[in-house]
Amino acid sequence: MNFQNTLSFARTMDQQDPLQKFRDEFLFPQQNGKPFIYLCGNSLGLQPRSAREVLGKELDNWQNLAVEGWFEGERPWMFYHQELKKLMAPIVGALPAEVCPMNTLTVNLHLLLVSFYRPQQKRFKIIMEAGAFPSDQYALESQVRFHGYDPAEAIIEVAPRAGEYTLRTADIVARIAENADELALVLFGGINYFTGQWFDMKAITEAGHAAGAVVGFDLAHAAGNVPVQLHDWDIDFACWCSYKYQNSGPGGIGGLFIHEKHFKDDSLNRFAGWWGYQESTRFKMEKGFVPEPGADGWQISCSQVMPMALYYASLQIFEAAGFMGPIRAKSKLLTAYLIYTIDQVNLAIGYQQYQVITPENENDRGTQVSIIASGNAKGVFEKLVAHNVLGDWREPNVIRLSPVPLYNSFEDVFLTGELLLKISKEIAV
Ligand SMILES: *Cc1c(COP(=O)(O)O)cnc(C)c1O
Repeated sequence: MNFQNTLSFARTMDQQDPLQKFRDEFLFPQQNGKPFIYLCGNSLGLQPRSAREVLGKELDNWQNLAVEGWFEGERPWMFYHQELKKLMAPIVGALPAEVCPMNTLTVNLHLLLVSFYRPQQKRFKIIMEAGAFPSDQYALESQVRFHGYDPAEAIIEVAPRAGEYTLRTADIVARIAENADELALVLFGGINYFTGQWFDMKAITEAGHAAGAVVGFDLAHAAGNVPVQLHDWDIDFACWCSYKYQNSGPGGIGGLFIHEKHFKDDSLNRFAGWWGYQESTRFKMEKGFVPEPGADGWQISCSQVMPMALYYASLQIFEAAGFMGPIRAKSKLLTAYLIYTIDQVNLAIGYQQYQVITPENENDRGTQVSIIASGNAKGVFEKLVAHNVLGDWREPNVIRLSPVPLYNSFEDVFLTGELLLKISKEIAV
């Protein structure tokens, strides 16, 4: 695509964009009476316009039906998760039975590790990416200790080569093979939160399985952003939050994936609760846990209907947009355009003030662009926000900008580049 750094080019792109109409389905935060150019969907997605109504329906049911809402109303709460499962499955490339909304991300990660991190005397090690999101590091360290091992010995971190920011698949695969005899688990993010690198999930899974390990992914930054294929890639388990690219609101309900091949494995440990019990006989309240087959069997407590309603509002937009195909197609263009506009800023000021550390290859990234800014980086970021462009800041010097296909436009991206150039000229760099 031959991009042009002009407003008219950006507007033409928007006119040709089949997802452009979905922008109106979202509510934008404002500052000084003007909406933000919101490039922070990697952290918290925007509120769907329909969220209030969809949630309101369940508040009405609670008011009018109270306890009978579990079995009555348009969408009885008892089966509410079934509606979500149907819509979650295409987003992560899974069968509906393989996914279920429940809890929150780090809680689900712990529950999955109970089932899938089963260290044996010799096989007790875990391979993960260096610089993973801190919550994942803490979860894994505490699980390793829980099993009586030392995290320093049990956790192997794969780091970028000297002078590089992202990981090479060959290096990940080599580390897995080197440790094959001792490896219990490979656990990676789908997309690294800091660099925006989308790992080669399929290659990592194949390497992990060849080494005799279980392979799981944290899709916090991947679910709803890139078209992952959890089932076809033979991934054992995964979890994600829905409040980033899936717009379910702060603290929104998490998602959990268990590959179908594990459904009949009775030897898997799990922390059980009544909601994971076989649905048809749950209310007989009998002794002895019998799990519902599939991901639903990992539920513990009764359904979180209100957070599910918020997630449902957003999932309906994904469905109307045609799920990940059209979203990914726009995402590639929009992100490439953002990188292009940043290059244009560097060209105009005559040196590389902004270094994009997100992979150049579009197959190795989602929407997020992570930029290392030299000079007064924090000052640049603060000026962007003051002028209504909201990205986010990661210490020590990284600005993350994520143009989200469902609600960002090419005009948003053009205006961001224009503003960045203006700020760069103003601030002594
Ligand atoms: C956002 C994020 C989390 C957040 O976890 P919560 O339990 O939802 O607070 C965890 N892991 C990764 C990789 C993330 O990006």
